[in-house]
Amino acid sequence: MSDDDDDFGQGTFDLGIDLLLGVDLNSLSDARLRDLLARGIATRQAVRQKPDPVKKVARAIGLNDLADLDRHDLHEALHVLDAWLQDPSTEPAPAQRSRFDRPSGVGQLPVPRGVKKALLPQTCGLCGDTVKPGDDIGRFRPLKKPGNGGFVLPGWLCRHCLFDRRESPRRRDVLIRFFHHLLNTSAVGLNARECGLLHTWLTNGTAASSPAWKADPLHATLVRLATSVDEDKPNTWIALPTSTTVLRALQFAEPDGPDAILLGDVLQHVEEWDTNPQNVERRRYGTGVRFRQEVLRTTPRPTLLSRLGGPFFLHKAPDPAEGGTEEETPQD
Ligand SMILES: [Zn+2]
Repeated sequence: MSDDDDDFGQGTFDLGIDLLLGVDLNSLSDARLRDLLARGIATRQAVRQKPDPVKKVARAIGLNDLADLDRHDLHEALHVLDAWLQDPSTEPAPAQRSRFDRPSGVGQLPVPRGVKKALLPQTCGLCGDTVKPGDDIGRFRPLKKPGNGGFVLPGWLCRHCLFDRRESPRRRDVLIRFFHHLLNTSAVGLNARECGLLHTWLTNGTAASSPAWKADPLHATLVRLATSVDEDKPNTWIALPTSTTVLRALQFAEPDGPDAILLGDVLQHVEEWDTNPQNVERRRYGTGVRFRQEVLRTTPRPTLLSRLGGPFFLHKAPDPAEGGTEEETPQD
């Protein structure tokens, strides 16, 4: 074997190294994940300095460097590096970072930080859908506010949640939107598409005969939803108490529908915020977002929503009347 061969991944390196053999990333602390990533980078550098593995791995997850990675990015960086170490001849592909084909108008979401192919089976960090290897996944950038404006940054999302969830919303997308606004103790903001879906959902079944609707009639809300659709409005806000009525009316109408489990989960957390079954100390956590986060985190009945946490900022359509702003601040 000549020296030249070594430049093409031959020699000791061609056996491949399994950095993550027997390692359960979920069980490791962030510090241990960082150690493991540093060890993997050093392993790659010991064999070959170029191309710079820090840059290669960072670009593969849509970043410029590997400083200050959160848990979601540490996991993805480790999977990228592991795949490269196992098959040194296949360099990690850079994530796509521009020129995305996005819907326009009130259904538009911001440009993601980057989009890449999933390496492993996983679930979407927002809707919980199954993502297969080879499917697109991506992340949004944090808000331009310190600490992400108090919101939690979601992990890697499926293609629907990155691009289409506001243009072609599914019922579960609207339920998830309700949940994060309620966790944030704010009114629920919906665009014209989401208002249309909710209007149909509320009027097609028996929601109007539910005890929740009878106690807190939703006729005025229906009118606002219909107006949003007619006028293609970017944002229509539904007040907190009305939002809870809407959810209870929907549950009455379709106790066994395909989205019944998620709807039940949202209402379970709403009830726990009211009843505080774990006796979370109000003196320490107040009555706002931090209290709700703590009740969610310590729930005796964990759900997809409690596992993912929040509140996530799920974006609102730029509204010319509001100066086109995209960001909002949690109320606490
Ligand atoms: Zn998703």
